[in-house]
Amino acid sequence: MVLTAAQEDTIAAIATPPGAGGIGIIRISGKQSLSVLKQIFQPKASRCAFSSHRLYYGHIHENEKVVDEVMAVFMAAPRSYTCEDVVEIHCHGSHLLLERVLALIVRMDVRLAEPGEFTRRAFLNGRIDLTQAEAVIDILSAKTRKGVELGQQQLGGALFRAIEPVQKALLHASAFVEVAIDFPDEDIEIIDHSQLIQQLKEEVLAPLEKLLAQAEQGRLYRSGISLVIAGVPNVGKSSLLNALLQEERALVTDIPGTTRDSIEETVDICGIPVRIIDTAGIRQHAGEVEELGIARARELIGAADLVLFVVDAARGLTEEDRALFDVVCHKPVLLVKNKSDLVEQMPPLQLPQVRAEVVISARKGEGIDLLRKAIFAEITAGESQWDEDACAPNLRHKVALAEAAVACRHILETLEMGLGYDLVAVDLQNCLASLGDITGETTAEDVLDVVFQQFCLGK
Ligand code: GDP
Repeated sequence: MVLTAAQEDTIAAIATPPGAGGIGIIRISGKQSLSVLKQIFQPKASRCAFSSHRLYYGHIHENEKVVDEVMAVFMAAPRSYTCEDVVEIHCHGSHLLLERVLALIVRMDVRLAEPGEFTRRAFLNGRIDLTQAEAVIDILSAKTRKGVELGQQQLGGALFRAIEPVQKALLHASAFVEVAIDFPDEDIEIIDHSQLIQQLKEEVLAPLEKLLAQAEQGRLYRSGISLVIAGVPNVGKSSLLNALLQEERALVTDIPGTTRDSIEETVDICGIPVRIIDTAGIRQHAGEVEELGIARARELIGAADLVLFVVDAARGLTEEDRALFDVVCHKPVLLVKNKSDLVEQMPPLQLPQVRAEVVISARKGEGIDLLRKAIFAEITAGESQWDEDACAPNLRHKVALAEAAVACRHILETLEMGLGYDLVAVDLQNCLASLGDITGETTAEDVLDVVFQQFCLGK
């Protein structure tokens, strides 16, 4: 790979988040890394070889003055995150201090790194593919433990591994098609037409469709959904939010209408980040402040992916409940019958259009796990389709996968109609290019390589 001038630069940045912490790390990557370290770092030991992958104790100096007491490590290329010479300096975790050390570094032949530039170098230097580079971002921005797990699976190459056999099948088909086009008279043993169709269906289209289905899973685990808790005052909305959060955040009171505005919290529902919004109760005769809350509640309900419609089941349905239900019933609604602890038997509640209902006691925390499962089932349209080990393609991958699937369907139509290999060859290239977009590879040369590896032509 040809390195651009920007890639040849030595770059540096503070690698730990802003704010005070026990340790703050500065990372340097590029040819000058070690020489920079040697200029600013005074090791404690009299003999220091700056061996690769060894942690050294010492001090950062500026004009003979000690700036900080640190640990420093040099990692020689290519055994580093970026595949370049890398230095990491572990300072005390004061941001002011870290900025001072960084300022010393960039006074030398080093520039500040752009956001994501270390990972970009790891990709450009071939250590990771594009999906793995994206996985680093996913891990950093994950909101749930499951989100981190999925990011780690992708960093481990889960998506790449899912795509690789599809690419191989396409290269195999390409090899055959190229030869059939270029050497129509050669006596070459080739797979037959219907077998090619079958292979493309099984080894290309089916896996692509599976990955496309998993993209929805990826979207949910990355972005989550928004859920509104709606219900008339005093049915237990704030108590329910607290029960879901497992901690007291919202204001709980016996006086109706004290939740003046909406409260928003993100909770982890079976791995999906769910933004839960507790609205002010929508009431027929509300005071001025509450009216503002009511207007906002209607807005939030309109934007929500799912509504938990809470009723006081011990009391039964009131006219107010029914009026509010008319406001929410155009959305996907889960009926939550609260205060089960107050009654032996829940009275049946007649609400049309409600697909699922859950009985809970928000005060006692009963039924909350069932409610979590019901929310998950609503979001995912049935738990069973969710594959634990599935990868989670992102939107960029989804677009490329969809393009690849279109190209593959086109290939199959062309083959089934017996319309010649020239058209097929073009679509095979398009399909490969779309998949190559996902992993960040170039494909044209790969196709040629496989052609010549498989068919020993021109000897
Ligand atoms: P909101 O106005 O809908 O947000 O209702 P709150 O959460 O403020 O609750 C109103 C009152 O109902 C409070 O006194 C709560 O303690 C009580 N409450 C909420 N959930 C339950 C429950 O499951 N059982 C019982 N017995 N009381 C509850």
